[in-house]
Amino acid sequence: MTTTDLHNPADGSVLMTLDLLDADAVDDAVARARTAQRAWARLAPVERGQALRAFADAVRDHVEELARLEVANSGHPIGQARWEAGHVADVLTYYAAAPERLFGRQIPVAGGIDMTFAEPIGVIGVITPWNFPMTIASWGFAPALAAGNAVLVKPAEWTPLTTIRLGEIAVQAGLPDGLLQVLPGRGSVLGERLVTHPGVGKVVFTGSTATGARVMAAAAPTVTNVTLELGGKSANVVFADADLERAAATAPYGVFENAGQDCCARSRILVQESVYERFMELLEPAVAGVRVGDPADEATEMGPLVSRPHWEKVASYVPDDAPVAFRGSAPSGPGNWFAPTVLTPSSRTDRTVVEEIFGPVVTVLRFSDEADAIALANDTAYGLSGSIWTRDVSRAFRVARAVEAGNLSVNSHSSVRYATPFGGFKQSGIGRELGPDAPLAFTETKNVFVAVEDGPRSDQQSVAVEDAAQEESA
Ligand code: ADP
Repeated sequence: MTTTDLHNPADGSVLMTLDLLDADAVDDAVARARTAQRAWARLAPVERGQALRAFADAVRDHVEELARLEVANSGHPIGQARWEAGHVADVLTYYAAAPERLFGRQIPVAGGIDMTFAEPIGVIGVITPWNFPMTIASWGFAPALAAGNAVLVKPAEWTPLTTIRLGEIAVQAGLPDGLLQVLPGRGSVLGERLVTHPGVGKVVFTGSTATGARVMAAAAPTVTNVTLELGGKSANVVFADADLERAAATAPYGVFENAGQDCCARSRILVQESVYERFMELLEPAVAGVRVGDPADEATEMGPLVSRPHWEKVASYVPDDAPVAFRGSAPSGPGNWFAPTVLTPSSRTDRTVVEEIFGPVVTVLRFSDEADAIALANDTAYGLSGSIWTRDVSRAFRVARAVEAGNLSVNSHSSVRYATPFGGFKQSGIGRELGPDAPLAFTETKNVFVAVEDGPRSDQQSVAVEDAAQEESA
């Protein structure tokens, strides 16, 4: 057993020392999960739904406590943290209806009855990042449990506390022992063991593209199914015909939410040349107006970065000679504070334009026309989200269809709704989370054919029989 110190990002103080589990803990966890899963899958669908609803209600009763814990461990502004805890309850409520809606299909074939069943995979590993600990864990465990699986969650090293608490709340709410386990540990140790363990049937990984590629490679020898939700470098495309006031006023929220530690951050603002100067005039006060400060303060809109090592990584993108157009404010003193920063690099291939910074740093580039905007938006290895600002409905649809990204919004920066699918194109990932189909991603399709003697024949069979009869008479 090793330990790790957890820090409060707002002041750098040590919150607590946490025990981390070793890789061997996965063996025991998988065995317990498998036992729990067999019983869980045998419950009536309505009973599984009731258990998930009870879990959702318990989370709702603990929203304030979970939110305060996230403020302390992750530095999220309290208002946002409350939304996150409430979102977990909403996700559980949404998927509580799923067990009774896991429909198979009856397919017309010759000689009998054919049907499909959505069978649970068994034990699912959910590996989460440090940026949105609670919500991303719930996107994995809620639909996976609904589909009849057990789930092992490995939270990120820096921000495990709310996920650990959710695991306790699940047990208090009556979820069977072992069905949902939270295993704090190092990614390269416990995380890797979760991916390679033969008893884990599927892994949902959210994190960086580099680590996601490693997870995919580690999953290959056991042919373990993976869903990957990885990085992003999304475009916020502002056309000359847009409501410029609204586009500029909201652009900071499209990128600086959660201090830019968001895979959906619109970290490349692309502005049509003819309105560039006007847009920048409007953007400057909007950036200055972002309230950066104590995450426990109700008025705070942006808190500190999650950790000192991450602060250093973000700072490396803004050296003294960086092309800073303007910056917002940030507290001084202890804590991982970083002011919202707007860069205007001269090159479209600058590293600040190409690489995911995962901090409150945005680049602004100009484009000439619609074709140039689409080319620029797609000139990235990523494809997670993006925004399009225009008053022209046809243009909105043309551009939305042409941008290679999984989650686009027009005249909005909204990316995440539990009822709609979420995930990325290109190196932003594989598979989709959330939405009505998410439980199916945690099932194997089983096809069963039942022969029926002297039953009705399908058209194909009739044709085949007639062909044979004709051949015989010829
Ligand atoms: P970051 O988001 O800081 O870039 P990562 O993408 O590396 O972090 O990590 C996301 C999650 O993946 C964390 O829970 C981390 O512990 C875990 N992880 C890191 N390395 C591995 C690995 N080799 N196998 C499985 N999980 C890993």
